[in-house]
Amino acid sequence: MSESFEHDYRRLASEDMQLKESTNLSREALKRAFTENLYHIQGKDEYFATLHDYYMAVAHSIRDRLTQRRIQTAKTYVQQDAKTVYYLSAEFLMGRHLGNSLINLGLYEQVRQILHESGLELDNLLEREREPGLGNGGLGRLAACFLDSLATLEIPAVGYGIRYEFGIFEQAIQNGWQREIPDKWLSFGNPWEIPRPDYRVAVKLGGHTEHYTDAQGHYRVRWIEGQTVLGIPYDTPVPGYDTNTVNTLRLWKAEASEEFNFQAFDAGDYFGAVANKMFSENISKVLYPNDNTIQGRELRLEQQYFFVSCSLQDIIRLHLRTHESLDNLHEKAALQLNDTHPAIAIAELMRLLIDEHQMTWEQAWHITQNAFAYTNHTLLPEALERWSVSLFGRILPRHLEIIYEINYRFLNYVYTRYPGEFDRITRLSLIEEGHEKQVRMAHLACVGSHAINGVAALHTELLKNVLLRDFYDLFPEKFSNKTNGVTPRRWLLLGNPRLANLITEKLGTNWIRNLEDLKQLEAYVDDADFRDRWWQIKLANKQDLVNYIQQHHGVEVNINSLFDIQVKRMHEYKRQLLNVLHIITLYNRIKRHPKIEILPRTFIFGGKAAPGYYMAKLIIKLINSVADVVNRDPDVQGRLKVVFLTNYSVSLGQRVYAAADLSEQISTAGKEASGTGNMKFAMNGALTIGTLDGANVEILQEVGADNFFLFGLTVDEVSALKASGYHPQHYYKTNRELQEVLQYIAHGYFSPEDPNLFRPIVNSLLHHDEYMLMADYQSYIDCQEQVSQAYRDRENWIRMSILNTARTGTFSSDRTIKEYCEEIWRVKPVKVDMNSCENAELKVQPAFQLSDRKIN
Ligand SMILES: *Cc1c(COP(=O)(O)O)cnc(C)c1O
Repeated sequence: MSESFEHDYRRLASEDMQLKESTNLSREALKRAFTENLYHIQGKDEYFATLHDYYMAVAHSIRDRLTQRRIQTAKTYVQQDAKTVYYLSAEFLMGRHLGNSLINLGLYEQVRQILHESGLELDNLLEREREPGLGNGGLGRLAACFLDSLATLEIPAVGYGIRYEFGIFEQAIQNGWQREIPDKWLSFGNPWEIPRPDYRVAVKLGGHTEHYTDAQGHYRVRWIEGQTVLGIPYDTPVPGYDTNTVNTLRLWKAEASEEFNFQAFDAGDYFGAVANKMFSENISKVLYPNDNTIQGRELRLEQQYFFVSCSLQDIIRLHLRTHESLDNLHEKAALQLNDTHPAIAIAELMRLLIDEHQMTWEQAWHITQNAFAYTNHTLLPEALERWSVSLFGRILPRHLEIIYEINYRFLNYVYTRYPGEFDRITRLSLIEEGHEKQVRMAHLACVGSHAINGVAALHTELLKNVLLRDFYDLFPEKFSNKTNGVTPRRWLLLGNPRLANLITEKLGTNWIRNLEDLKQLEAYVDDADFRDRWWQIKLANKQDLVNYIQQHHGVEVNINSLFDIQVKRMHEYKRQLLNVLHIITLYNRIKRHPKIEILPRTFIFGGKAAPGYYMAKLIIKLINSVADVVNRDPDVQGRLKVVFLTNYSVSLGQRVYAAADLSEQISTAGKEASGTGNMKFAMNGALTIGTLDGANVEILQEVGADNFFLFGLTVDEVSALKASGYHPQHYYKTNRELQEVLQYIAHGYFSPEDPNLFRPIVNSLLHHDEYMLMADYQSYIDCQEQVSQAYRDRENWIRMSILNTARTGTFSSDRTIKEYCEEIWRVKPVKVDMNSCENAELKVQPAFQLSDRKIN
């Protein structure tokens, strides 16, 4: 044997080596992988390949590299018996995977070059990916930022959720109105997920319970289900930035159980069996498209229970692979409830521990309470989840019994703490009395968790003092604040590469993991050359958005105008309408004095309305109608432009935040729990016009009042005004410009084909004005005038912009996640070493024994 042959043989003989060779990050290995995957996975060569084929080939090559790290990560966690975070969320709004994976693996530039040399542009490939829109807005996007930070901080973590077949609908605009198009995001295949049918679990629904005494003489309960649904897990890798850690997002798809179908087939009821299969598969069919409102539908409760039960059964299986019993489950698992959507998990874990694993109530309760923590996301009454007891009992009869038992014990405790305070007991009860009894999911979450947190300082104070005040009285030690954050990997590196490069040029790369380092940018505010480059970058980002708007909306935008942007879900409390009132105010000034000096502005909106939310959809129509009038009016002469960006999404957000001059964060004080869009804008150097609401308060505090445009009523002023009797007409009668604006809308100036079209908007403002636009109007208009003045002083504006970026490092989700880890989850980082951890070092048996062919 020649020496070189022996050398090669040794190399190839080692499976491990071979794997490392084929998934390594070198240029040559990547190029080879692209070609081989194009051939073997897509079944094409360069002659036949489409852009989609190239995208798939690259995506698979990158996934292979993530897979190798994911396996090593999983082994390391098992070996170290590490405490793991399980993040339960009905929504994960991940955004496209390819760009983010390339960034986090450090391959972005290299892959861009390799493709470029073959005549392919990476940007075009990235655009081929269908965005997985498995969330509505901020809450789902927060879950995605958290997964990125958990992996980057090397924390053992799994995200658990639902693999909706249809994500958030695609928004089209037709004649100014929103139209919803089903989001068939899986129709071209999803190269990022791996199904794991061997880890499927069964979930029961309906039926009844039976009470009996077991052989040991213990009282027991059996749940005789009405039907069973299977949950099939699909795993998506979640890479950290510049680390070997690759965690998992595990999403559940509902399928019919074979057993059930066979029964029906035996009886000859073919159609019944197929219909039942359809019923089962409906559970993960579609994401409910409501943001901050509940839809009390049976299917929604089934979705919540389905993914929670699948996840808990999975967590228990994993735990029992490496532990004798479940006694120490809470020492190895931190279960986080992202809002109350998964709160049924508290009753489900109790059921699993007591009914299926024969634990006593006390022991099960100890484990449950110590495992769970709850994040509240909203103060809006219409978003607080309640389920009618009758619906609940029909779908989850055993859980209703468990909830009654939790409530019985809880209220007994309350009574010992506050004897005779029956009002307090009524307020705290997990069951709301009334003409229809309701289960209060937030109360279940509070009682069953050891920690409760709000998502911004102001929000947490309002939880303690208003919404959950009685719980705070009882358990003050459970409450803490965890101000939200966003990942700088997606929202700066990927979304704003020009700015990221400038920052790296000045600071090195540390800021990407330690965003507080952005503070060092303050040293450059007086550097005229740096300011010029900062401005040129903003202009280049604006030019990209101008091109996008031209291409997709056919509207020509003046790049030198102030880009005034409000992108977020359409909701009355977010007050897109207040923004519209400002636009019409400026328009009317121009109409009255066509020669008036007005700072050129481009007003950019984007956001979806829930399909059943009439007012929100009418406001979209109003924005588009105002755009039609303003954009065509020769008197305006390019001074004002209005654009409604269709189908706002994470991908569109990446373009928009980077191009903004002004960020609109104008919710009624006390209504927005935190906001995260506000953070993305400020980080990208936009200045904020905002109320003292949610995390705006902390952004203002960080960037300083000189670098923030504050207006409007405070929370206390809002409640005082409400308490003393709020009369929106008062503001109308005393404000000439406001009168004119509302009259234009009311009399059909923007809807000549249907003059009464927008009457409901004006009526709502004049007669209820729940969100107090009338009270805040003048303050907002005045503040916008200050914005215009400030923008005219370009050098100072750039200074303010730099300071916004420099001072918003605290809004990295890395900071948020560190707080959760230290104060709630008590978990520590685990380093993943690609060269250690051979199978022999593992303390546990492999899942499949090759010697005896036995699955455990
Ligand atoms: C960040 C983000 C949101 C949340 O925006 P808010 O302004 O905080 O409401 C919603 N949707 C998408 C796509 C986002 O990226």
